[in-house]
Amino acid sequence: MAVNFAKDLISGTGETLMNSDNKKVLAVGAHPDDVESFCAGTLFLLRELGYQIHIATMTLGDCGSTEHSAQEIRRIRRKEAEAACELLGASYRYLGFNDLSIYNDDISNRRTTAFLREIDPLVVMTHPPNDYMSDHEVTSLLFRNACFYAPAPNYDTLSFTPVAPSSAIPYLYYFEPLDGIDIFGQKVRPQFYVDISQSIEARLEMLGRHQSQREWLRSHHGMDDYVEAARRRCRDAGERASRVSGRTLAYAEGFRQHLGHAYPRENFLARVLQDRVIPETASC
Ligand SMILES: [Zn+2]
Repeated sequence: MAVNFAKDLISGTGETLMNSDNKKVLAVGAHPDDVESFCAGTLFLLRELGYQIHIATMTLGDCGSTEHSAQEIRRIRRKEAEAACELLGASYRYLGFNDLSIYNDDISNRRTTAFLREIDPLVVMTHPPNDYMSDHEVTSLLFRNACFYAPAPNYDTLSFTPVAPSSAIPYLYYFEPLDGIDIFGQKVRPQFYVDISQSIEARLEMLGRHQSQREWLRSHHGMDDYVEAARRRCRDAGERASRVSGRTLAYAEGFRQHLGHAYPRENFLARVLQDRVIPETASC
């Protein structure tokens, strides 16, 4: 059964091993501001614990403007993304795709796998498999694939400067879909919440550095409370986490972990963030 190769590759025996902690976390969004919108509160907590944070976006948001050309908005949004990452002390990388043109094809898989090998993160966070638009969903699939492919030595990324295979399949987490619902309007419950009450203001300040996105949402989506809407989403998650835990916490972010065959199944975030991680019970 070919799919066993990943564990065999790591352990030589096929047994499940705990990945060694190299202190590297990678968060990938389809567009600039996605990471800030969904998981930056947790990233701040991990940084406080000494983790090295890397952020990448597939595109530079070239279709997200009604007033600038694609080239102009790319330049603007790259600067905004870099400024946001500075606040977190994270590296930033643009992965060379364009808005509405992210596909699950051979070259895209090789490109994302090459990038993943370069970082070789312990943890990857990205969009959930089902979300409101294709760019998010395909980004999710490409990085799910990259996590699996990166340790396989015979998978050739066709890069000019080949990078060694990754040390292991990373822990893979999906953040919540936009508005916490699927395309049929059904609530998608996270598996657990992270209490980000301590980092909410830093998270919102980071989001606020994406000024052009605020303008775009106002003209295209009719939404003028870019940062406050993000605060409300975190407050809603915090209320839900309070209800299921019996504790009182102000703000939270929700996650699901990829638990398919060969991916590490231990909840790494629960191990390092301890009581800041609150399991969803889905019964109340
Ligand atoms: Zn997006």
